[in-house]
Amino acid sequence: MSPLTQTVEILGKLIAYPSISTESNLALINDLADRFDSLGARCHVFAESGKANLFASIGPDIPGGIMLSGHTDVVPVDGQDWTFAPFRMSEENACLFGRGTCDMKGFVAAAVVMADHYAALPLRRPIHFAFTHDEEVGCLGAQTLIPEMQRLGLQPDMAIVGEPTEMRVIEGHKGCCEYTTRFSGLAGHGSDPSAGVNAVEYAVRYVTRLMSLREELRARTPSDSRYVPPETTLNIGRIAGGHMHNVIVEKAEVDWEFRPVQRKDFDFVRSILATYVETELLPAMRAVFPAADITTETMGEVVGLQPLSVNAARDLVAGLLGANGADVVPFGTEAGLFQQMGMDVVVCGPGSIAQAHKADEFIRLDQLQLCLGMLERLGQRLV
Ligand SMILES: [Zn+2]
Repeated sequence: MSPLTQTVEILGKLIAYPSISTESNLALINDLADRFDSLGARCHVFAESGKANLFASIGPDIPGGIMLSGHTDVVPVDGQDWTFAPFRMSEENACLFGRGTCDMKGFVAAAVVMADHYAALPLRRPIHFAFTHDEEVGCLGAQTLIPEMQRLGLQPDMAIVGEPTEMRVIEGHKGCCEYTTRFSGLAGHGSDPSAGVNAVEYAVRYVTRLMSLREELRARTPSDSRYVPPETTLNIGRIAGGHMHNVIVEKAEVDWEFRPVQRKDFDFVRSILATYVETELLPAMRAVFPAADITTETMGEVVGLQPLSVNAARDLVAGLLGANGADVVPFGTEAGLFQQMGMDVVVCGPGSIAQAHKADEFIRLDQLQLCLGMLERLGQRLV
């Protein structure tokens, strides 16, 4: 059976697990773990309350090596108009249809097929496989996998994150940080505003400060930023609070997000807001009502992948693909987390992000073939 035929067969099995982020991915991870066990790989399953990450290694048991990384969760299909069954893979016109075919079980299937091939090679450096849960809801799986890897001393030198880039070499993406900030004041009659603490008024002041940061963030943009738009952006997604004209509002909420182009913008935004809350908003609220409060809940905090002048993973994959240079993309991945861990990281995988998260998601067979070719050449570099 050719590697492509094997990949299609495994992908069909992976698609049949409806591993939507809210559901358990345990059955899928156990299936993959069985495959790695049967190859004699060193295999760890980190499971907690129905969710699991898998980390497997092939080759010598020494530090370093290359990690192939993919997430096993998929986004829901609710409200989408599918002509194909989302969780039973179909093939038509050299395309495979199903939820997760391109984002990103196609890469996972290709990596599993190549694991079989790697296990038969006299590898001088190890190849690792990291398959996570809950990437689509804030990279939660990677955030629990990384401390487990550190605890066990599993520290690959490089990572290839196989998110769909149509096999283009990607060396950078922005971060994505989402928050809900809640304001708790004191209700009262609208006829005497000074007797209460109006949560909506403080929410508005907070939002105004956020909006004023836009100009400051624009001024901080690195001159060589290749993103569109080039600066760290900030968005207010929802603001809620209050019931009627004549009541001082007790509770208000603001959903907001920002997408840092550099790590220092992340620290900048968080520290400016924390200072503003501590030194201006809270003292003013508590002067009237000592129990008033402002809290910020982190809904997802995915750090960006910073393009670096020295990046062995980028250079390696570019060489394997004969690519000239590397690009940046607007979507987030687990890559920044692995970079933070000290690895050189590149994002490169089969399929197009244009098909991800949509009805009739698909991957083209020639994309899988390109990926298999790259992974096969990777094996030759490690013997
Ligand atoms: Zn993805």
